[in-house]
Amino acid sequence: MRKKIVAGNWKMNNTITQTNTLIDGLKTELKETTLEDTRVIIAPSFVNLQQAVVATEESVIEVSAQNMHQSKNGAYTGEVSAEMLSSIGIETVILGHSERRTYFNETDQSLAEKVATAIEEGFEVIFCFGEQLEDREGENHFNVVKKQLTEALFGLAPEAYGKIILAYEPVWAIGTGKTASADQAQEMHAFIRKTLSEKYTDSVANNVSILYGGSVKPNNAKDIFSKPDVDGGLIGGASLKAVDFSEIVKAI
Ligand code: PEP
Repeated sequence: MRKKIVAGNWKMNNTITQTNTLIDGLKTELKETTLEDTRVIIAPSFVNLQQAVVATEESVIEVSAQNMHQSKNGAYTGEVSAEMLSSIGIETVILGHSERRTYFNETDQSLAEKVATAIEEGFEVIFCFGEQLEDREGENHFNVVKKQLTEALFGLAPEAYGKIILAYEPVWAIGTGKTASADQAQEMHAFIRKTLSEKYTDSVANNVSILYGGSVKPNNAKDIFSKPDVDGGLIGGASLKAVDFSEIVKAI
């Protein structure tokens, strides 16, 4: 049975002090909340990950990295490997965020390598993908999403999907205040599940959690999360405020 997940992508925000303050705030806000089948994940920047792992010990909050390199080690100045992350207690990584694709030229081909390395190293991957505005306006969004999944993920064995979380993030909705309607999210999530079922099996399709990302806020989370194929959210801006992020967690 697939899990509900609310994950916060902090991007390039928060110093060490702000990281501690935000985690304290989240712990306080979520103290009384019963989370049963819901996972709460935060993704601080690399430099604050180790502290975040320590600060979230004995809480419901899990910690993810925002990226990692596809090679195991070597001459890749400025990069971080899976082994480095696991050595500080990180077991989850976000890959393929649209900002990485746009500003750092990540492609579905390079992401296929990153995903393969992450899975090999025992990581869980939050894999982000989604169409641009012109794809949606040109009614090409289903094709684009299918191509992204095919090129980045469909080389994986079915068993790997036990470690994959999908995050459908229409690029036109990220950080713009424009959210896909709950019906648009549901329509795409159902399409993603159908695509997985055609490539793999119904079991793979039905067991993978599919998160929606793109301007999810406390005031729209409930509506989006009410849809049957939406298993939670990947949250950017609203994950930087303890009260807002916790409200979103409680909306699931
Ligand atoms: C994101 O960056 O993954 C995201 C969904 O951002 P926001 O919630 O700010 O749109």
